[in-house]
Amino acid sequence: MNRIIIVTGGAGGIGRCIVEHFAAEGDQVYFIDIDREVTLDQVERMHQLGYRVTGFVGDVADRQALEDFASLILEEQPQGIHCLINNACLTNGGILTDCDYDEFLYIQRVGVVAPYMLAKLFRDHFCGIGSIVNISSTRAFQSQPNTESYTAAKGGITALTHALAISLSGVARVNSVAPGWIDTGNYHGDPNQPYTPFYSKGDIDQHPSGRVGEPEDIARVVAFLCDERNSFINGENITVDGGMSRLMIYHNDYGWKYQPTKLPIYEYLFPNDQE
Ligand code: NAD
Repeated sequence: MNRIIIVTGGAGGIGRCIVEHFAAEGDQVYFIDIDREVTLDQVERMHQLGYRVTGFVGDVADRQALEDFASLILEEQPQGIHCLINNACLTNGGILTDCDYDEFLYIQRVGVVAPYMLAKLFRDHFCGIGSIVNISSTRAFQSQPNTESYTAAKGGITALTHALAISLSGVARVNSVAPGWIDTGNYHGDPNQPYTPFYSKGDIDQHPSGRVGEPEDIARVVAFLCDERNSFINGENITVDGGMSRLMIYHNDYGWKYQPTKLPIYEYLFPNDQE
């Protein structure tokens, strides 16, 4: 389609799939990733397929890296960009472990500050009405123990989405996608080696859609949101989780059993971490 697409965390996992999806459509894709080796590998594979993909090695938590990344793109593309996909994130536990001030802050810099800063850096450089897609998580809306750093970042990016949609009216549409369980195994490592998923039949069956998600499930929704024919969707979140977070669970109904751990939650989560 010959658009200019920006992706963060584009070397591995869902980001890698998003890069490939747009590049295969004929778009020119720029991505940033912290992992040098995987970035070089991704760029080489994309070029072998004849795709127009440029990789940039950097940490999106680093303000200078974001500014350098944006400058490089705008020098090469002075007419501007079409879509920004804020995908990079990671987790670092929470209040039950030693996720301290700096570690918690780092996750927010990757998961919330970087998407804000990139939106700001590209604000005046969208061609026509642009599209920003933020990758959130169902964990923005529900939690397991010890997930505060990640959950806060995902809540943050979800709220940032509707705030930006209002501020950037006439500049860019801004939406988020909240994946559930997405098995990224095929998008790490050697694509020529067969990959064996590690999840059980129960893991599959618990999803109303009858399967665990794949990166393509997310890439297709991102592409849908970037398609300007869908421009009436704005400030919205689309959950893509096979219906999992819609499932109501009651003890002894429909075969569900509540069997809480007998261990204190810390020991359950970290059995090898006894002092
Ligand atoms: P992943 O860990 O498989 O891949 C993330 C990519 O981002 C990697 O290439 C990594 O090197 C890069 N990255 C990490 N930190 C970075 C940083 N500071 N700067 C630049 N690049 C960085 O993750 P994934 O499973 O593909 O997840 C992608 C997005 O989808 C994330 O926002 C994640 O929170 C979200 N998500 C994933 C799932 C899932 O089940 N996989 C579920 C819900 C939400």
